[in-house]
Amino acid sequence: TPTSRIDRLLSSMGYGARPDIAQMARRGGILLDGVALRDATHRIPLTPDLPARMQIAGQALDPLVGMVILMHKPVGMTCSHTEDGPLIHDLLPARWRRRDPVVSSVGRLDKQTSGLLLLTDDGPLLHRIIGPRHRITKTYHAHLARPMDGTEGETFAAGQLMLRGEATPLASAVLEVVSPNEALLTVTEGRYHQVRRMFAATGNHVEKLHRERLGGLSLPDDLAPGQWTLLHPDDIALIF
Ligand code: URA
Repeated sequence: TPTSRIDRLLSSMGYGARPDIAQMARRGGILLDGVALRDATHRIPLTPDLPARMQIAGQALDPLVGMVILMHKPVGMTCSHTEDGPLIHDLLPARWRRRDPVVSSVGRLDKQTSGLLLLTDDGPLLHRIIGPRHRITKTYHAHLARPMDGTEGETFAAGQLMLRGEATPLASAVLEVVSPNEALLTVTEGRYHQVRRMFAATGNHVEKLHRERLGGLSLPDDLAPGQWTLLHPDDIALIF
C-alpha cells in the first residue's frame, strides 16, 4: 500500500496549503479512527477505506485519487473554461477544483446539451473512454424541429456522411425513431457538435439534445439535472 504525508495528501485534495493543514492538525481537526493526528508530516497508508476512517473538520475525507463522477449535466452549463457561462465544475465541492491530479470532464457536452457526463481525475481511464480505440457508444435523444423524412437511418448507418469542413467521413451510427420529431442516435465518435451537425446534414435542426447512455452506463432516473454521484468501481467496467 502506498503511503503519503498527511499534509501532502490533503493539500493535493484541495483542503488547503500545507501550512494550513499543519495548523488544522495541531488543533485536532484531522482524525483517523477517531484519534487526532496532530503532526501533519506523519505518513499514512492510502488504503481504500481511508475516506471512511478519516475525518477533516468533522466530515469524511473526500474520495482518493481515481474517482469517477457520474453527473446529470443540466442545460446552460459549460464543460470548458474557455466557454462563457457557469461551469459544471461549480456543481462539485469547491475544493475539488484544487485537486491534483485535476478532475476533468470525460469529453464534453455542448452548453445546450443535457445528460450523462462523467468526470474523473484518472487520466488513463479518461483516454480509454474518449480515445478512438474502444469505440465507446454514446446514445443521444434528439428532439427535431421538423419530422424526419425516413432516409436518415440509412444515411447515418452507411458510414459515409461527410460533415462540412472535415476530412474523413463519419463512422456508421444507429438511428432509432421514437416519433416523427424524435429519435435516439447512437454514435461511436465524439466530433464537435456531432449529433447537431448530423441532423443538419439531413436538412433538419436539433432543438433539444440529451445524452442517455455511455457504453453500458445509463443516466439513473432518480438523478435530477445538476445532481451527481460517485461511480462504484464495478460500474466503471460497464462503460467498456
Ligand atoms: N453532439 C452534439 O451535437 N452535441 C453534444 O453535446 C454531444 C454530441
